[in-house]
Amino acid sequence: MAIFNDKAFDNHTHLLFCNHPETQLKAIIAVHNTNRGPALGGCRLWPYASEQEAIHDVLRLSRGMTYKHAMANLPFGGGKSVIIGDPQKIKSEALFKAFAHFVEKLNGLYIAAEDVNINVEDMETVLTQTRHVVGTRTGGSGDPSPATAWGVYHSIKSAVAYKYNRDSLKGLKILIQGVGHVGQYLAHFLYKEGAQLFISDINQHNLNKLTQEIEAQIIEPARVPTFECDIFAPCALGGIFNDVTIEMLKAPIIVGAANNQLEEERHGDLLRQKGILYAPDYVVNAGGVINVSYEFSAYNKEKVFNHIAEIGHTLTEVFTQADKMNISTNRAANLIAEAR
Ligand code: NAD
Repeated sequence: MAIFNDKAFDNHTHLLFCNHPETQLKAIIAVHNTNRGPALGGCRLWPYASEQEAIHDVLRLSRGMTYKHAMANLPFGGGKSVIIGDPQKIKSEALFKAFAHFVEKLNGLYIAAEDVNINVEDMETVLTQTRHVVGTRTGGSGDPSPATAWGVYHSIKSAVAYKYNRDSLKGLKILIQGVGHVGQYLAHFLYKEGAQLFISDINQHNLNKLTQEIEAQIIEPARVPTFECDIFAPCALGGIFNDVTIEMLKAPIIVGAANNQLEEERHGDLLRQKGILYAPDYVVNAGGVINVSYEFSAYNKEKVFNHIAEIGHTLTEVFTQADKMNISTNRAANLIAEAR
């Protein structure tokens, strides 16, 4: 199994394989870069089809965190962890305690947080064994999703201002793919501003919950890529922009929370060639990490949310730079992050 040659390896400094048979824990902690500070990143629990797939995913996600922290000017490096398994079957208190022991052994090199299939309760369990964890309720800032959604909302405003030179989102047709933690909060922010909402999800419960709270039209998942709207907000999983889907896209603006939306960097070039304004995901979804970064000082919600709103200005800088250099927005963002 090639690891050093994996496309996503990109000079990672550490990769720790954690094995604890009693709890069925098989986890990987990746530390990409600590130039700016300790590696901070979420822990994802996923039923990976193979170990290679898990390694590739953790490397990609961990590298992305280095760029995300640099763009948000945070004093953290890039890291991430994955636990291999079916969340319905392996989740237990003992599993998270075992995972926490491995985090503790790294002595602060890596700071854990929640990610897909892991919630605040799980992180509370991790906290019983190590202090190198953020996003807990006890002494922490809790669920980061409202903060992430606030950043996505300001990113949408920035993209609309850049492309259409308008301040308000009133009447604009916005499609949200995935109305889970982040998507639900985002929908509320957009609804308040008078946007016309369209929502899609594979989880009927999440769709029902939201349509009981606000006005939104449900769109079948298969119709999402070809749906005609002003803004497409991907808030489900990554890898959704590839050679096939980009051909079908009708939305002129893409801004969403999902990590790793582009299957490969070159797909950002294809979006630019089609005249689609793509807001790089790791710039857009930094609200969550900005939020937890305040756990290391006195947490003040107003201050945090004002800081998160600045993501809109960072994006304007990215859009402007991309146009100046005639390159895709993801490549422009990478150049700015690497310089930092
Ligand atoms: P979540 O699991 O709560 O919500 C995801 C939603 O997407 C679920 O409702 C799920 O049913 C739906 N979904 C999955 N596949 C779908 C498909 N094919 N079509 C339509 N819907 C689909 O996750 P979340 O916390 O809301 O995060 C959403 C995305 O944002 C993830 O990619 C995550 O990595 C990223 N992100 C989240 C945060 C955060 O603060 N939660 C921070 C940064 C990035």
